[in-house]
Amino acid sequence: MRPRLTRYQMIVVATLCAAAVICISLRGAERIWCLAALCSLSGLCVGLGVSFPRWQMFGESICAAAAKRKIVALTFDDGPDARNTPELLALLAGRKIRATFFCVGMRVAQQPELVKRMAAEGHAIENHSFLHSPFTNIFSVRRLRGDLSRAQAEITRAAGRAPEFFRPPVGLTNPRVFRVTGELGLKVAGYTARGLDRRGDAPEEIAGRLLRELQPGAIFLLHDGGVPCKRLLAVVTLLLDKLESEGYQCARLDELIAEQ
Ligand SMILES: [Zn+2]
Repeated sequence: MRPRLTRYQMIVVATLCAAAVICISLRGAERIWCLAALCSLSGLCVGLGVSFPRWQMFGESICAAAAKRKIVALTFDDGPDARNTPELLALLAGRKIRATFFCVGMRVAQQPELVKRMAAEGHAIENHSFLHSPFTNIFSVRRLRGDLSRAQAEITRAAGRAPEFFRPPVGLTNPRVFRVTGELGLKVAGYTARGLDRRGDAPEEIAGRLLRELQPGAIFLLHDGGVPCKRLLAVVTLLLDKLESEGYQCARLDELIAEQ
C-alpha cells in the first residue's frame, strides 16, 4: 500500500511541528540557532532526495524490479546519437539483447529514421524530456508539461508507440516532476546503478561500477548519447560477457517490471 504522504511531505510536516515546538519552548539566540539547525537539516534531506531517486522523496521512482530470476534491464540515455547508436544496435542485435533507450525528444525529431529502426529491432523508446535542459529541475509545471509532452509526441511519431516511462535529465526529481508525469500517465524511472560513463574512466571501471550492484531486477544506466563510441561498445561488451557468464538475461524495462 502506498503511503498517503510522500517523504518530502512528511519532512515538511515534521519540520513545521519541530519549528513550532522550538518557538514555544525557546527564546532569543537559542531559538534562532535551533531553527537554523532544523532548516539546514531539512534542507539537506530534501537536497539529497532531489539527487538520489532511490530515496523516493517526492514519489515513486522505479530503481529496480523485484524479479525472482536472474534478469536485468540495460538502459541508455541521451540518444539517439548517429555516431554511437547504430553501432550499439548492431552489438545488441548480435547478442539478441533488447534494451531501453531514454531518448531526448529534440534528437528524436532530428533522426526519426534511427528511432524507427531502434523500435523495429525490439527496443523500448522512452521519454528523457525534449530539450534535456540542465535547468529542467527548476522548470515551472507548465513548462515541464510542455517539454515532456513535446518529447512524448516526437517519440510516439517516430517509434510508433507512446513512451510509458520518463527518466528526468541529470536524475534530479522534485514534486513538479511527479505531478506532470502523473498527468501524462508516465512512470518515473530511476536506476539501480549508473556507469558514470561521461567521466572518461576506463571501460573496466565503468562496467565494474555497474556489476558491483548486479542482482536480479537491477536497472543499469549508461549513455548512448555524447560518449565516445569505442568506449561505449567496450563497456557494453564487458557487461554482456559478465552477465552471460553469471547466467543473467537482459530485458526491456517494461518486461523487467512485468516480472514482479
Ligand atoms: Zn540525460
